[in-house]
Order: sequence, then C-alpha cells, then structure tokens
Amino acid sequence: MSVQNTIPLVYDNILTSGPDFHLQGGYCPDCDRYYFPIKESCMECLGSVDKADLGKRGIVYSVTTIRTRPPLGLPQPYSVAYVDLENVPLRVFSLMDPSEAGQYCIGQTVELKVAPLGLNNNKQVCLRPYFRSISSPQETDRMS
Ligand SMILES: [Zn+2]
Repeated sequence: MSVQNTIPLVYDNILTSGPDFHLQGGYCPDCDRYYFPIKESCMECLGSVDKADLGKRGIVYSVTTIRTRPPLGLPQPYSVAYVDLENVPLRVFSLMDPSEAGQYCIGQTVELKVAPLGLNNNKQVCLRPYFRSISSPQETDRMS
C-alpha cells in the first residue's frame, strides 16, 4: 500500500497518474500554447484546451525564500520559484523542497517531487507537488 493512495492531492488535475508523477496542464493546438494549471479555454483563441503532460524537470528562472509564518501548514522557511520547464515552453510558479529552503540558485536543474506536505483547504494533510534540486548550478554549467 502506498501513502499516495490514501492522502488527497492538494488540487485535482495538476499531475499525471503516479508513481512517476509529471505536471499535467493544458495545450491549445491552434495557438501552440501551454497552460498550467489547465484552463477551460485558451486565453488567446478561446478554443478548447487539451490535457498535456508537461514533464517533471525544469530550470530555476527566479527564486526567493519566505521566512514569515507560512500558510497551509507549510514548514518555515520555504522557497518558491519560477521554473522554466524542460519539455515545453512554459514557466510555472512552484513551491520548492522545504528541506532545501534558501539553497536554490538561478540556473539550477530541478525535478518534480510529490509528497505529503502541509494542509489543503479543508485543513487535511495533503499530497503536494514541489520541485527539488537534482544538480548544482556548477554541474549544470559543466554539462552545457
Ligand atoms: Zn488557442
């Protein structure tokens, strides 16, 4: 039995089915535009938006660490970042792994993780997606 089967996800329709979770968003084929989270209609053409697998890796575009009392039962401090996804041309705003709060750098490669973290709107423990580091910026530089 996996913990993922018994704890609710913080929001519906934001992840592909596990165990190897990817972000799930939307894609408008007419405008070649991606969305996260998915929208009911495309913001450019108002057409319908398909579900899209957005992958699970990205590069930190910008990051900050918040040290004030956190909402939703999150640990203190916690970092949030804009992450440029690797598989699709889309920048998403995301919570970062609280165990690495304050240690993130612009240009760092990060990967999606899903784990019990904080509370949902019903004040229940919930599964929450966040990004964690898989390389230091120096390693990323060496690879490119
Ligand atoms: Zn469109």
